[in-house]
Amino acid sequence: MAANGVCDHLRAITTVKHPKRYVCEECEKIGSDWVHLRICQSCGATLCCNDSPNKHATQHAHKSGHPVIASAERGERWLYCYPDDEIVEY
Ligand SMILES: [Zn+2]
Ligand SMILES: [Zn+2]
Ligand SMILES: [Zn+2]
Repeated sequence: MAANGVCDHLRAITTVKHPKRYVCEECEKIGSDWVHLRICQSCGATLCCNDSPNKHATQHAHKSGHPVIASAERGERWLYCYPDDEIVEY
């Protein structure tokens, strides 16, 4: 799926995880709003993007060390690796 030259984290993704529900799991707990949704490709958590007030996907990546997220937005097909700051379409 991934092109040559991408990092090992992205290369390790063979099946892209998709969200079970279109909600940020953390925003839902605190009653906050989000802009776009991302899915952690290590644990499948659905979390909000950096345009959202709480940036839960980025917080999760830093806290958990899970490196790769995918966009959960319909029509968007890309993966992003935090440690390598690398994005790839699939
Ligand atoms: Zn990487
Ligand atoms: Zn959130
Ligand atoms: Zn995770």
